[in-house]
Amino acid sequence: MPKILTVGEILVELVATTKGDGFRDAQPFFGPFPSGAPAIFVDQVGKIGGAAAIIGRVGDDDFGHLNIDRLARDDVDISGIEIAPGEVTGCAFVRYREDGSRAFLFTMHQSATAMLSVTPSGAALMESCDHLHIMGTALAAPGMADTALEALRRVKARGGTLSFDPNLRPELIDTPGMRDRLDKILAQTDIFMPSGRELFLFSNDKTEAHAVTDLLARGIREIVLKRGAQGASFFSSEERFDVGPVPVEEVDPTGAGDSFGGVYVALRLAGSRPADALHRANAAGALAVTRLGPMEGTSTNAEIDDFLKKQKALS
Ligand code: ATP
Ligand code: MG
Repeated sequence: MPKILTVGEILVELVATTKGDGFRDAQPFFGPFPSGAPAIFVDQVGKIGGAAAIIGRVGDDDFGHLNIDRLARDDVDISGIEIAPGEVTGCAFVRYREDGSRAFLFTMHQSATAMLSVTPSGAALMESCDHLHIMGTALAAPGMADTALEALRRVKARGGTLSFDPNLRPELIDTPGMRDRLDKILAQTDIFMPSGRELFLFSNDKTEAHAVTDLLARGIREIVLKRGAQGASFFSSEERFDVGPVPVEEVDPTGAGDSFGGVYVALRLAGSRPADALHRANAAGALAVTRLGPMEGTSTNAEIDDFLKKQKALS
């Protein structure tokens, strides 16, 4: 089974329990939940039985151990997680606004993950994994970005493949050096997994069809476009198709894209056809939004089967 590696932030998330704009008033939060986009992605891969590993860095505190315990429970290889004594694990505070958009407050840049570097156990994973998944959020701090780029160099040198989810929070897009890193990574991407407007991050094209054509002409093999409550679409030079959303009640959409990505990439690497991988990833994304807490939304194969069976019975 091909082994999937990701690199980047392992955080806890605290979710505001009231809607509103930001964090300037005293307010209730629920959490801590294990989080960090790469961590959610890899937890999802492990949960459906894929071989999965993460390179990351946490403090020797409850927030760090909460994450390590969860990832280990879900069969993720945690040998590449460095525990940094005297440092703290990063936090993300999230609050939903009335219009459904989200305000984030990150302590990522001041936490253990910002100082990620290539350790011997990290290097061993770079030399043994077959596929790398990069999330744009992991490119926002120089330590994480350099480690991700080193992983990319080594995995590609051994004939491995790359999937790339830009996952760009508006809060992160203007980070110094970000544009350069994004371009470098896109140039080596096999599977591109943008969400909504992220499709236009790398092209001046105005329409979806033109942007897709442009990206495929650059050598990207397949594009999977996440459309939130509208489902998802697949594009390659041979085919394109859409998958409609599975109707659910949205409780907490954070992490849906990461769960979706984990299922899609794991299934494609295991040899599933794009349509089958997209069908199950779409179900995993829908399931994810029904659960509060970003990593609480990852699913097992049995949960996805069950969910799809129930949907079929209803339709
Ligand atoms: P995030 O970065 O917050 O993890 P994202 O923006 O990368 O999310 P989304 O497009 O929000 O990704 O969600 C990923 C996939 O999950 C969608 O393409 C769809 O398949 C499924 N999904 C998300 N929201 C819903 C919803 N409300 N109803 C049904 N399916 C959904
Ligand atoms: Mg995303």
